[in-house]
Amino acid sequence: MGAYNDSRMDFAGLRSKLRADQVLDGSAAVRAYDCDAYTVDRSKPSVIVLPESTSEVATIVWWCVSAGVPFTCRGAGTGLSGGAMPALGGVVISTKRMNQILEIDIENRCLRAQTGIANRRISDAVKADGLHFAPDPSSQSVSTLGGNIGENAGGPHTLKYGVTVQHILGVTMVDPLGEVLEIGGKLGCGPGYDFLGIICGSEGTLGIVTEAWVKLTPIPSVIETVLVAFPTIRSATETVAGIIATGTIPAALEMMDRGIMNAVSMAFGLEYPAEAQALLLVECDGESVEAVEAEIESVRAVCEGNGCLEMSVAKDEKERARLWMVRKKGIGAMGRIAPSIVTHDGVIPRSKLPEMLDFVYSVASEKNIGVANIFHAGDGNLHPCFYFDDRDSVQVEKVVEAGEIIIRKCIELGGSVSGEHGIGVEKMDLMPLMFTPADLEAQAMAKRIFNDGELCNPCKVLPNQRGCAEHRMRWRGVAT
Ligand SMILES: Cc1cc2nc3c(=O)[nH]c(=O)nc-3n(C[C@H](O)[C@H](O)[C@H](O)COP(=O)(O)OP(=O)(O)OC[C@H]3O[C@@H](n4cnc5c(N)ncnc54)[C@H](O)[C@@H]3O)c2cc1C
Repeated sequence: MGAYNDSRMDFAGLRSKLRADQVLDGSAAVRAYDCDAYTVDRSKPSVIVLPESTSEVATIVWWCVSAGVPFTCRGAGTGLSGGAMPALGGVVISTKRMNQILEIDIENRCLRAQTGIANRRISDAVKADGLHFAPDPSSQSVSTLGGNIGENAGGPHTLKYGVTVQHILGVTMVDPLGEVLEIGGKLGCGPGYDFLGIICGSEGTLGIVTEAWVKLTPIPSVIETVLVAFPTIRSATETVAGIIATGTIPAALEMMDRGIMNAVSMAFGLEYPAEAQALLLVECDGESVEAVEAEIESVRAVCEGNGCLEMSVAKDEKERARLWMVRKKGIGAMGRIAPSIVTHDGVIPRSKLPEMLDFVYSVASEKNIGVANIFHAGDGNLHPCFYFDDRDSVQVEKVVEAGEIIIRKCIELGGSVSGEHGIGVEKMDLMPLMFTPADLEAQAMAKRIFNDGELCNPCKVLPNQRGCAEHRMRWRGVAT
């Protein structure tokens, strides 16, 4: 691929296909779209376009392909591995204005929407019918259906209900040449190869999903939520493995450490026991009061056996929302502590949580960076949040190094380089830790089925892509 040089590029042809208010290119806009929530890797786009329909997306992609301009799809930009960052510049295709619900079919428990819709809006639209969209990333009030599909997002309730791919029936996708494909549909995937599985989690590298049919799941009629305080990290992490070992699979099993409690206290004035070093938020749900209560009793026994300090039980919906606050607002509250946060993401077998958490704190202390932990403990999904100042290149480098050390340890303990935040640019170089050259070549071949070029979200997921050396030299940019 010849290097794309945006200073030589005239975007008049692209502009002529859209209204003026659908193209952004001022310095503020370009700065706002130069990264996602993985803020230590930035690259400026030339223009940002705001299509409103599948056919407009196809027109934009078609123009980019004929002009040889790279393009990157972006939902809400809450991704945590640099997936929506335009590594080689070019055009950012934002789905912000593609946020319509197109069809609701209560009888068949499914809904079709444009993919720029925020996750939470889907559930809000069908709540009165006792249904919801089960994938619930903690970013759900803003993160989009398309971004959830792109990252195959999980969330607190993934433990029981599964990740995004398990709730997608079909997609309309503009492929990297601008052709519109229908994959699956209201009835799910038909005969033939299951392409939905490869599109979910493909991080915008196989095309731009413009519409999707999603499954709607009944809201459980009985929900019990408890927040349990522990005197040590170890007693909490051992409890996680202990709960799962009893055979009880809670709907959610989340952990927060003292750093998160402090941030939430500062931001929202909530108080937690002074001697608590960790909290577990446990939710059990189902259709029978007796069954759910039995699960909660089983959880209580394990917590008490591990020396918990106290257990708060939500008595109504208001209290439930208050107990969830430490989990839902925890990362946002960290803005009180430092200007920048990088949330790392790895997976380990649950039984290794105690050892892994000790390791995370020791790495943070060795690198002299602040860390707080908030994560889907039941899944063994680890999220150390490093807080620092991204205007300081030394701190940026330390945060990136710490992340790599932690991911290497996850692999050593039998885990994975990513649980739910994807590979993006952040983890590309770590893929060979998990995959052999033959495995990676098989993935590259699968990518080429849809994307045989180098323009659609280049320099993501798979290492050693052609034309990406320049970006790699200037990545880990310091905020300007
Ligand atoms: C506070 C906070 C909490 C979070 N909690 C969770 C959590 O609990 N679980 C979890 O899994 N993640 C979580 N995340 C990460 C993030 O919110 C998810 O990955 C989310 O799915 C990204 O959605 P988005 O709309 O912001 O996508 P973006 O960040 O805009 O894009 C993400 C990727 O998807 C691609 N993409 C976007 N739209 C499309 C489309 N229409 N078609 C094809 N590709 C597309 C992009 O190119 C990019 O590669 C959290 C992030 C934050 C900041």
